[in-house]
Amino acid sequence: MTSHHWETRAIHAGREDLVDLGLHVPPIDLSTTYPSRDTVAEAARLDVFGSGADDGGPPIYGRVGNPTVARFESALAELEGAEAAVAFASGMAALCACLLAQVARGRPHVVAVRPLYGTTDYLLDSGLLGTSVTWAEPRGTGDAIRSDTGLVIVESPANPTLTEIDIQALAAACAPVPVLVDNTFATPALQRPLNCGAGIVLHSATKYLGGHGDVMGGVVASNEEFARALRRIRFATGGVLHPLAGYQLLRGLSTLSVRMHHASAAAAEIARRLVHHPSVTRVHYPGLSGEPRPPEQMAAGGAIVSFEVDDPHAVTGSVRLFTPAVSLGSVDSLIQHPASLTHHAMDPGSREQAGISDRLLRISVGLEHVDDLWADLTQALTRD
Ligand SMILES: *Cc1c(COP(=O)(O)O)cnc(C)c1O
Repeated sequence: MTSHHWETRAIHAGREDLVDLGLHVPPIDLSTTYPSRDTVAEAARLDVFGSGADDGGPPIYGRVGNPTVARFESALAELEGAEAAVAFASGMAALCACLLAQVARGRPHVVAVRPLYGTTDYLLDSGLLGTSVTWAEPRGTGDAIRSDTGLVIVESPANPTLTEIDIQALAAACAPVPVLVDNTFATPALQRPLNCGAGIVLHSATKYLGGHGDVMGGVVASNEEFARALRRIRFATGGVLHPLAGYQLLRGLSTLSVRMHHASAAAAEIARRLVHHPSVTRVHYPGLSGEPRPPEQMAAGGAIVSFEVDDPHAVTGSVRLFTPAVSLGSVDSLIQHPASLTHHAMDPGSREQAGISDRLLRISVGLEHVDDLWADLTQALTRD
């Protein structure tokens, strides 16, 4: 399977056994428990699961593992180039498990680069899970590492400023501390951080992996050792992905490449047009202003654009085709005001410092025709 192109693997990964099973579409297994007459063998297997390993045998209980979710996990691991992937109920549940794994190892200190997703920023800044954080600039990240640092956390491109971080340079500066890259915005269709030296990739699967705005999930791709720590935490804390969501996310992977490339092209076009719009004072999109980009990191700029206007609330109130809503990554286009919504939980001073001004709007470009999106944006912009 790995000899095929990435796009081909995205369609067939996690489905390798279906023909032999006489099936075309992956089955959705909704069982919460699984019968077995051999209690002694079950007990031995539970000991294996307790260590975070997965013996690949029949399932025991829904919180320990589910076959439909396992298909999504194995597919995502393959597409990110990881040994393993562990799925959770949401992106935040996935991040919590990563932090708890390092707290349990006695490495509660995190070095992080702003801007990050607003709730991630809040979780780190509040120390809610017993972690502490040092906020660093990309160049100073290596210097912020201490003996108790368990993780370095970055997003590239960042939310909502779309700043790119050179993952390879960062990973080299931080070794041996693993760099966790939130790859939600780029997805493995455009960027595979593990190939650049990152140790851990995290997704809010709610966004592009699902792709249709109708499923919540999170997933972490890493080496098997870290995956074991995550499985132990998931088993004990219960933030499992629902089997139906596992099915929807596996299906989402099969169209991911087509969706990402199509939406990226439209987003790049909208970004170019926004630069010339009289109501727009600033546009953020990877590579737009000709600044040097990390080489060979992202295959396209992605489908998110952000821009500044005088009255962002007038724009979100006037759009008709764009839906004014938080979140991103659906087939339809969304617009939101980060300072009010996604980054509202951040302290206003830190928000401003991270480049998230009150004038900033963020759009998630979907699969509509680019000219229809542009017509809607321009009619809304004349009202700001
Ligand atoms: C949405 C999002 C998250 C959080 O994911 P949920 O699925 O909402 O819990 C984390 N990181 C990024 C970049 C996101 O966009």
